[in-house]
Amino acid sequence: MTSPLFKSSPQPAVQPTAQPDRPKPGPQARSTVYAIRPYVGGAAKAKSGKTIKLSSNEAAFGPSPQAIAAGKTAAASLHRYPDGNAAALRNALQARYHYPAEQIVCGAGSDEIISLLCQAYLEPGDETLYSAHGFLMYRLSTLAAGGTPVAVPERDLRVQVDAILDALSPRTKLVFVANPNNPTGSYLTKSELLRLHEALPDSVLLCIDEAYGEYASYDIAAPDYSAAGFLVAQGARNLVVTGTLSKLYGLGGLRVGWGYAAPEIIDVLNRIRGPFNVSSIGQAAAVAALEDRDWQEKGLAHNARLLRKVGEGFGRLGLTAYPSLGNFLLVDLDSEARRKAVNAKLAAQGILVREVAAYGLPSCLRVTIGTEPEMAACLEGFKTALQR
Ligand code: PMP
Repeated sequence: MTSPLFKSSPQPAVQPTAQPDRPKPGPQARSTVYAIRPYVGGAAKAKSGKTIKLSSNEAAFGPSPQAIAAGKTAAASLHRYPDGNAAALRNALQARYHYPAEQIVCGAGSDEIISLLCQAYLEPGDETLYSAHGFLMYRLSTLAAGGTPVAVPERDLRVQVDAILDALSPRTKLVFVANPNNPTGSYLTKSELLRLHEALPDSVLLCIDEAYGEYASYDIAAPDYSAAGFLVAQGARNLVVTGTLSKLYGLGGLRVGWGYAAPEIIDVLNRIRGPFNVSSIGQAAAVAALEDRDWQEKGLAHNARLLRKVGEGFGRLGLTAYPSLGNFLLVDLDSEARRKAVNAKLAAQGILVREVAAYGLPSCLRVTIGTEPEMAACLEGFKTALQR
């Protein structure tokens, strides 16, 4: 399954480099820090009335009741520091994904793992490659670490292996690919993944970000998708796979993520992470969430069904929803002006979706898959917004 040709007028493939803000007098941060525009999360509250929040790719059904119970139990010991080694959590990740616990590092969300990779592996001026419509934190964390982010063009909203290889330079240290990607929903096939990894020099660290990997692995429409962990298991020395408890497991509020890599990379990340970087409640709730396979199955089955149903619903409204392996759809409104108008009318109805202009997609909106009633209301909301 590949994306159809990108419908709207050609998008700037490479994000324009933000003009650095002029530093104020006084202590100076690294010069690249002033090029950062802080990450803006999805809108959380409508101006008035009922809110349907489909703006942050959160789990439709929220966390497992067992995760909530485990978090409450852990709350009784909040005066104690968490386990700095996150041993129980890493064991639960091993049980769930079959990755050895000693090759896992946990973080305050996978955002933290991305940030640690940049801090550890970039000297000032070293380059990070990421795809033009890739997840924004690759660029921001690179700048925060003093590195140089390089956006690689995509074609038809898909990561291009050859474009990444063409962009390699002697200064390239890191390559980030979200698989599947947010906000496009597109993915690298297993053969593309292998080709990319094989062609990269040993000195370049490839991060495959599987924040939505569970949804993708579940999707029978994409048999050519593969999680990248098998490459680490085969001994890849320059590959890290990241994942999160924020999506399928519904624990975004707790900030729990992980990375799986060769022991040498895990050792590096353990040297620079905070000693207690994952909270006690986060660890306890994450363990329970990982063990509750029924809750996961419910979320996965719901997502697979609704992705199709809602995608068809957008089609009936005359809109293109691009094929997605995540828990969201990228919907094309054909022009920036129409996207702005429709989003304003959605917001007025309390329907919150995500603008993705910062990802070089000014004509699109990203819509998270919520509950069935929420998605019915969302489609009705779009219909109303398009009519007026
Ligand atoms: N990677 C991708 C592709 C994402 O979409 C997100 C969430 N927006 C993350 C990483 C970070 O997730 P978290 O820090 O909550 O684990």
